[in-house]
Amino acid sequence: MDHFLYRDGALYAEDVAISEIAAAVGTPFYVYSTATLLRHFRLFDEALEGMDHLVCYAMKANSNQAVLRTLAEVGAGMDVVSGGEYRRARAAGVPGERIVFSGVGKTREEIRTALEGGIRQFNVESEPEMVLLDAVAQEVGVKAPITVRVNPDVDAKTHAKIATGKSENKFGIPISRAREVYAMAAKMPGLEVIGIDVHIGSQLTELEPYELAYQKVADLTETLRADGHKITRLDLGGGLGIPYERSNADPPLPSDYGALVKRTLGHLGCEIEIEPGRLIAGNAGLLVSEVIYVKSGEGRDFLILDSAMNDLIRPAMYDAYHDIIPVVEPAAGVEMQPMDIVGPVCESGDTFAKQRLMPPLQSGDLVAFRSAGAYGAVMSSEYNSRPLIPEVLVKDDQFAVIRARPTFDEMIKRDTIPEWL
Ligand SMILES: *Cc1c(COP(=O)(O)O)cnc(C)c1O
Repeated sequence: MDHFLYRDGALYAEDVAISEIAAAVGTPFYVYSTATLLRHFRLFDEALEGMDHLVCYAMKANSNQAVLRTLAEVGAGMDVVSGGEYRRARAAGVPGERIVFSGVGKTREEIRTALEGGIRQFNVESEPEMVLLDAVAQEVGVKAPITVRVNPDVDAKTHAKIATGKSENKFGIPISRAREVYAMAAKMPGLEVIGIDVHIGSQLTELEPYELAYQKVADLTETLRADGHKITRLDLGGGLGIPYERSNADPPLPSDYGALVKRTLGHLGCEIEIEPGRLIAGNAGLLVSEVIYVKSGEGRDFLILDSAMNDLIRPAMYDAYHDIIPVVEPAAGVEMQPMDIVGPVCESGDTFAKQRLMPPLQSGDLVAFRSAGAYGAVMSSEYNSRPLIPEVLVKDDQFAVIRARPTFDEMIKRDTIPEWL
C-alpha cells in the first residue's frame, strides 16, 4: 500500500498534487511519501513484536538525509555498507549503537571510522576482514562486536544480479566453515562475538528460501553455543520483495515474514535484527517524468520521456518492471495502445518498457513510475551529462525539495582542467 492515489482525476502524493510539485521543481524528479515510509517501517516493527528486535533500514536503497531522518525519528537503526553511508547515517542523527556495518570490502579507514564513531556491530564477511578488524580494534583500544555473515547456499529465487546466498556469490563465509571461523574469532582479543548474520538476496517473492536459510541459522546457533560461543543476536538480513507489477503480484507481507521468524528462531531467545531496504522505500517513491515526444516507428510507437536510464537504471540493469501511470487519470473505457517507453539517452538499453499498454498521451503530459523509491535516485548518474534529478519529500499537505537539481554550471565545474592545458 502507498499514498499515491488519484483524486478527482489527478495523481496525488498524500495531500499534494503531483502536478503542483512538477510546476515548482520541473521534471523529471523523485517524490517520496513520509506516510508510506513510516507505514512500511512500522509493519516490520509490528511483525516482530514480542521479540527483542531492531529494524535496521538498509540505507543503500535510498540514503537521502531526509529519508534517513524520517526513519531515525521513529527508532529505526541503519544497515550501512560503506564509510560514506556510515557518515550519512550519523549526519542524519542515527547513534552509532543503532548502526550495523555490512559489506564484503570494508577498508581499514572505514573500520576505524566506525570503531571510533560507535557501532552496534560489524557483520564480518571473510577471514581476512576479521584479521584486519581485530588489528584495528586493538589499535583503537576497543573490542569490536561482530557477527559472521554466513552463506547458507540457498537459492533466493530472484534475479541473478541480486541473489547473494548461493555458494557461488561473493557474500559471507560458507556455512560449512562457520565453526572454524567462529573458533578463530573467539581467540582474537579485539573481537567480541555476539551473533550470526545472514542475507540471501533482494526482491524475494516467496518465504521458502528464508525458511531454509533461517532453519540453518537456528541449527548453527545451537552448534556454536555447544562450542562455547555466546550467540545472543541474529541479523536476518533484508530482501523481502514488493509488488512492482500490481496487477499480477502478491508477495508475502511483513507480518507473514515476522511469523516465519518467530517460528524458526523464536525459541532461541536471541535479539533479532532485520535489514529491509526495498520494502520500506520502494513503494514510498515515484519518478515523475514528462513526455517529450510521441514518435511513430515501424510497427511500434515510442513514448520518449525526459527521464532516462541514468535516472532510473533498474529496467536496464535488472530487466525490472515498473508500473508507469499518467498523472492525469485516464477516462474510464479509454482505448489503450501498446507503446515502447524510452528515455533520451543514446543506448538501446535506455528502454523502460516495451509494448506497454498506455492511454493516449501527448508531449507535455506527465507520467509517474511507481515503486521507484528504492534503488532509484541512489543508483542514478550523470551519464549523457544529464544533471542528477531532484528529490522531493511530501508530508501531508507539505512538500520540500530534499535534494536540489544541480545547475549545468555546477555539474561542469566539478571537473578541473590541469595546468598544462
Ligand atoms: C541490500 C542489502 C539489504 C537490503 O535488501 P532489500 O532487498 O533492499 O531489503 C540488507 N542487507 C544487506 C547486507 C544488503 O546487502
